[in-house]
Amino acid sequence: MKNIVILGSTGSIGKNTLEVVRNLKDKFRVVGLSSNSRWELLAEQVEEFKPTYVALNDSQLGEKLKRRFPGNHLKILTGNKCLEEIVLHEEVDIVVSAVVGAVGLPAAIATIQQGKTLALANKESLVMAGHIVMSLAKKNQILPVDSEHSAIFQSLQSGKLSEIKRVIITASGGPFYDYPEDKLSDVSPAQALKHPTWQMGQKITIDSATLMNKALEIIEAKWLFNLKVEQIDVVIHPQSIIHSMVEFCDGSVVAQMGMPDMKVPIQYALTYPERMPLSVQPLNLSSIGSLTFKKPDMEKFPALRLGYQAAREGGTMGATLNAANEVAVQAFLDGQIKFSEIASSVEKVINNHHYIKNPCLEDILTADAWARQETKKCLM
Ligand code: NDP
Ligand code: MG
Repeated sequence: MKNIVILGSTGSIGKNTLEVVRNLKDKFRVVGLSSNSRWELLAEQVEEFKPTYVALNDSQLGEKLKRRFPGNHLKILTGNKCLEEIVLHEEVDIVVSAVVGAVGLPAAIATIQQGKTLALANKESLVMAGHIVMSLAKKNQILPVDSEHSAIFQSLQSGKLSEIKRVIITASGGPFYDYPEDKLSDVSPAQALKHPTWQMGQKITIDSATLMNKALEIIEAKWLFNLKVEQIDVVIHPQSIIHSMVEFCDGSVVAQMGMPDMKVPIQYALTYPERMPLSVQPLNLSSIGSLTFKKPDMEKFPALRLGYQAAREGGTMGATLNAANEVAVQAFLDGQIKFSEIASSVEKVINNHHYIKNPCLEDILTADAWARQETKKCLM
């Protein structure tokens, strides 16, 4: 029996993780859950999974939860360090980090420092501070939840890291891949929130539409698998059946495939190195008919080019890119800027920032705060 904490249990990955755990009740016990604002959904999850701890930033929401669960059975942690605190408890074996954004970084570091397994969906932690996170982690202490990185990790079961020639990350291309370029700047948040193949939280859905999600994934792959940027290719594959591939030094290419369903990579991260039965829609290639592939268009989707730039330059680039993007995506969702301004404002901010090559955590957090302010100024 493994004890797990799910950070961001009320989100898309969080709910899928609970679905996995619901079907593996004899293997996993949920000891901790967390949310940001959706405390009522969190309360329902508490009723079903009976964790010992919950974490919620907002102390007023914590009070509401307390009234719902009086007595001492549920320990409610609040305040801006609550995610770091909840992972520290001795009984925790696995932490699933499914929060969105930079807020996941301190808890990811705390999880690793405590020697616990980190099932990582929150790619932003690696984008911001991959060099710090990876230098603290032991082999296989971080298990990828992101479907592409899980696919690479699964493909690597047939070869070693040192035998990788190249990884090929697939991208659906999002809802606008074939949309006319001159109309792209006028697409609305509602249009951008309609992803063709995956059901996800709002921020990553917008990132998928700009291809910034792929940009973040290039940086994530670089750190997770210790790759040079030249070893990372992206291919547009609209059907999202091949989740990514590894080309080994002998020319053999190993791919991981399946119908798009995040429960597969989530469960693999939880049960690794074993596999357990999971009821998912089976892959029926003859009914799909054809799998297609295209070269990504970095002029139409400049975010992808920025991802390669940030991956190559390293240092504080990742944190700056990520923070600028978080602010720009929110501004787009709030109707303040056009779709095309997301990437253009990120580009301005990363190219104006005070670059540090080997940043410590404090430098990373300073770069993050600066980029947020600067992006807001640039969007005013
Ligand atoms: P969602 O927006 O659906 O969920 C985010 C979760 O984080 C919610 O539980 C939310 O709480 C919580 N949260 C949001 N802001 C804060 C905050 N400031 N402090 C604490 N908790 C917070 O996101 P997703 O599940 O889609 O994505 C989560 C992460 O996983 C992201 O990093 C994303 O890139 C990554 N990922 C997601 C995939 C997907 O299929 N969805 C695929 C691959 C990676 P509340 O509900 O109360 O708002
Ligand atoms: Mg992904």
